[in-house]
Amino acid sequence: MSNSFSRSSGAAVVCHDCDLRLARPDADRGHWFCPRCGARLGSRHRLRAQAVLALAATALVLWAPAVTLPLVYVEQFGASGSVSVASSATALLDDRYGLVAAVVLGTLVLMPAAQMIALLVAMARLHAGGRPRRWLWWYRQGREWAMPEIFLLGALIATTELGESASLRLGTGLFCLLGLVVARWVAEGLADPAVLDRILEQRDAEAGDAARV
Ligand SMILES: [Zn+2]
Repeated sequence: MSNSFSRSSGAAVVCHDCDLRLARPDADRGHWFCPRCGARLGSRHRLRAQAVLALAATALVLWAPAVTLPLVYVEQFGASGSVSVASSATALLDDRYGLVAAVVLGTLVLMPAAQMIALLVAMARLHAGGRPRRWLWWYRQGREWAMPEIFLLGALIATTELGESASLRLGTGLFCLLGLVVARWVAEGLADPAVLDRILEQRDAEAGDAARV
């Protein structure tokens, strides 16, 4: 904590990426950036906690059908079948691609759900006046590691590739996955980490508590 960049008498801000401590700029609007690592540190946008809460809840509701229901139905040479996120992961496990299956399960299945749960709880606590640092930390991890849109992209590419040799029908799972990706994308856009940091700092200041986790 001795990493002091500027000893200002006013409010200070700590970079969430590299822990550099800086004096808060006087600017009333816009964003500012960490001079060492370039992370975005501040913004004057307001947090619409209830909208984020609703979007996170929507994404969570869509999660189960997006993972379990068929994304596409394939029909070729009289045989037919369907592909879902869960069946792809189990197929990988059966083929002894254990590591790939674990990555698929982690980034496409578990992390998006964990991230939306963390966001949901964090928004509810923020709305109630709390300082949910641990939940926001999980939300941030999800921003880095959850990538359900990759599966959507893969499914769409496979659909166009297979479409030439087989007959395909889009499944409900694909639309749920699309809804999940869009809801999560908008929620992340609204729940900007820089805005969340600012709220936590304000609450710390209000509570007269400089302790950081
Ligand atoms: Zn930094």
